[in-house]
Amino acid sequence: MRKLPRVLVVEDESSIAELIAVNLRHNGFAPTVVFDGAAARREVEAVLPDLILLDWMLPGESGTALARQWRQQARTKSIPIIMITARSEEGDKVQGLDAGADDYITKPFSTQEMLARIRAVLRRRAPEVMGDSVQVGELALDASTYRVTFRGRELKAGPTEFKLLHYLMKNAERVHSRAMLLDKIWGDHVFIEERTVDVHIKRLRETLGEAGAMVETVRGAGYRLSSSALQEPRV
Ligand code: CA
Repeated sequence: MRKLPRVLVVEDESSIAELIAVNLRHNGFAPTVVFDGAAARREVEAVLPDLILLDWMLPGESGTALARQWRQQARTKSIPIIMITARSEEGDKVQGLDAGADDYITKPFSTQEMLARIRAVLRRRAPEVMGDSVQVGELALDASTYRVTFRGRELKAGPTEFKLLHYLMKNAERVHSRAMLLDKIWGDHVFIEERTVDVHIKRLRETLGEAGAMVETVRGAGYRLSSSALQEPRV
């Protein structure tokens, strides 16, 4: 079964928060509700949501301040955020989007509008994780057909190795820490140890065979996929 998209609802008016949560639950999402910024930050630290519905007016820290903080951190910067607000001024909308929100809903809004905006934002983000192909050196991955080839020969990768390889290839030459890979590949990693990454990297290298050398260990930092790490074929 596919995992339900996790939506973090940050809304201090409990009746509205509850209504949003009920509607999300009925429509195939897994909502978590928090009532202020401190709880929201704790929740995001524990589990990365697939999307955040963020009320603008909160006690203490405002929604825009929270959005700004999340956008500045590598771990949270690409979480889709939809701001909820009672204000419909154009200037406010711009301010919300400037803070890093992907979209904006004005109270009162209908369930249908909320769901449509959530789905649209998730769809816009989706191409990042599926449906594209990427090539690094002679290694090619096609996510739509689920194929990995090296020098034209097909390789068989398990689902986790495939996701891991896809991510490393799309971000080739960059170093990724274990924690970052856990976030990107496993998402909710509360119960997964960083050592798990090492296990899957080892399997990925085995899967890749000759091309396994492209997956480099960067001591004290993490892993990197690099085409220059591979020797040219000998003749
Ligand atoms: Ca509020």
